[in-house]
Amino acid sequence: MNDRTQYEPVIGLEIHAQLRTRTKIFCGCSTAFGAPPNTQVCPVCLGLPGALPVLNRQAVDYAIKAALALGCDIQPQSIFARKNYFYPDLPKGYQISQYERPLALGGGLEITAGGGKRVGLTRIHMEEDAGKSLHEGFPDSDRRTYIDYNRSGVPLIEIVTEPDLRSAAEASEFFARLRDILVWLGVNDGNMEEGSLRCDANVSVRPVGQRAFGTKTEVKNVNSFRYVQKALEYEIDRQIDVLEGGGRVVQETRLWDSASGRTCSMRTKEEAHDYRYFPEPDLPPLVVDAARLDAVRATMPELPEARRRRFVAAYGLPEYDAGVLTQSPALADYFEQVAAGAVNPKAASNWVMGELLRVLNERGTPIEAVPLAPAALAGLIRLVDAGRISSSIAKDVFAKMYESGRSAEAIVAAEGLAQIDDESALLAIVRDVIAKHRDAVAQYRAGKQATFGFLVGQVMKGSGGKANPKLANQLLRRELEA
Ligand code: ADP
Ligand code: ZN
Ligand code: MG
Repeated sequence: MNDRTQYEPVIGLEIHAQLRTRTKIFCGCSTAFGAPPNTQVCPVCLGLPGALPVLNRQAVDYAIKAALALGCDIQPQSIFARKNYFYPDLPKGYQISQYERPLALGGGLEITAGGGKRVGLTRIHMEEDAGKSLHEGFPDSDRRTYIDYNRSGVPLIEIVTEPDLRSAAEASEFFARLRDILVWLGVNDGNMEEGSLRCDANVSVRPVGQRAFGTKTEVKNVNSFRYVQKALEYEIDRQIDVLEGGGRVVQETRLWDSASGRTCSMRTKEEAHDYRYFPEPDLPPLVVDAARLDAVRATMPELPEARRRRFVAAYGLPEYDAGVLTQSPALADYFEQVAAGAVNPKAASNWVMGELLRVLNERGTPIEAVPLAPAALAGLIRLVDAGRISSSIAKDVFAKMYESGRSAEAIVAAEGLAQIDDESALLAIVRDVIAKHRDAVAQYRAGKQATFGFLVGQVMKGSGGKANPKLANQLLRRELEA
């Protein structure tokens, strides 16, 4: 066994995120996922001769929004370039991308793994997606490859990190946090199964203490947080084995195969493409002035991190609650509306995180589609806080509200669920319980304190869960000691 702790991994990620525009980056074709093959195409995205690209404004605004949220410097002028290579899914024979002068430089993102650090970004640039080769699923798939150009020309941003990551876990967390932010901003749908977010991982290892980086490999196709972690762990181990065996790591592109849990060589540096980049003659430079930046800034939501901190400071919530409630802007909005009506923010948090999320998860309902209005939930919480209903009854009321859309007040009144605070009414129940459970009473009086809990339970049950628990306790104790 080698001592793997003598090596330090160095990792940089290149992440492609599809922008959530309705139409493609250089034409008006739909970007909707899942349409029959080659139904969302036109001369522009099919690369037919004479067709000219027109840049999608919304795509640029989304790219700017992502770059601003990640603290990048947006460049006043960036240039689209042709990246030339031959592949059947690329009908023009080149991909329009940004190269020497990307939309944004710098920026970064905090992670907590590895003791917490900021991972620097190198750049964010805009580009178009290619079509999709279909190698499987047809009767003659053993002889033919089919191509679907629906994805050709879908707008992407590529986010390139500095080689700042030092473990598979750090890389995986970075990818997850980046996804959260892009989804939060509404610029990406976060759907990795549909390929809306894709990650290539560059990794090298070096002896601990050495400054110079080792030779890197690029692992393609690691499109989930788990795969990022697994592929990198595999690749780090593989490179250490190569070095320990006296060999040298070859600079190459490798493909992650999730089925076997391995990476395998795809092409070496010698086989790498020469893309012969040159500026796209059919598009003017992309100019982003201060007015445009301000306009995009004005649409920027409060970011998850800031919102989390505000939930702790303004509502006095535990960090944990703030983290759960800021999973999505819609959930955070919902909580804030409940809190506004409920008076007690911690109670609002408990209900949203507890009953509400439980029901939503159970039914697979997204928070955006929740039938229960936040003001109605706030009404329920006020009834509990005011001692009008017990918390166990409140759960039943919640279920009834969720189904019917009736208010908590109305349900409590109609079904006689209000808490029993009336001493004489409760005393009758207490005496009845004492009369019916002579053994338990005898045990309690003989010093077995635990029996008290059982008797309280009987009183609650006798009251249909409606007894004021505090009063029930007092009365029961008084009667038992009498
Ligand atoms: P290439 O020219 O091969 O595309 P780049 O310098 O553009 O390489 O870097 C691509 C990605 O690889 C970036 O995320 C960068 O941080 C990362 N990277 C660069 N050098 C190394 C290295 N020695 N080890 C690990 N990652 C690296
Ligand atoms: Zn088109
Ligand atoms: Mg590169």
